[in-house]
Amino acid sequence: MEMLIYCPICKKPLFNSFPTTSFSKKPALEKVCFQADHRVNIKSTKFNEDIVKSLSIGLKYNQYWNYMNWFVDPSYFIFQKTFVYTEPHSIIDKTPLRLPYFEPDFSDINKLLQKISKLIVFS
Ligand SMILES: [Zn+2]
Repeated sequence: MEMLIYCPICKKPLFNSFPTTSFSKKPALEKVCFQADHRVNIKSTKFNEDIVKSLSIGLKYNQYWNYMNWFVDPSYFIFQKTFVYTEPHSIIDKTPLRLPYFEPDFSDINKLLQKISKLIVFS
């Protein structure tokens, strides 16, 4: 998966985040978009900032966040529902659901969400 430039949800440019790491290690590139209704966090591999290592998208619905997490190597996909009681603290309601990896297509978010819903139903 190639590093994204724009947020797949709101299409605004992603911001670079600079995680604190040890001095000897080159930090992996981390790009984020934090909005009231969605959170996106993308990390590159340490070796190539153009290659995605993990991608997390949180979408807020009334009382909960749905988190979709793609991990590239080893490849798997995790879906997790998190209830929001008092911001910023949230309580994890469900154990993470680990599903087979698939390449996300962000050109149509609704189609992607439908695909994920089907994966959950048939898991
Ligand atoms: Zn966004």
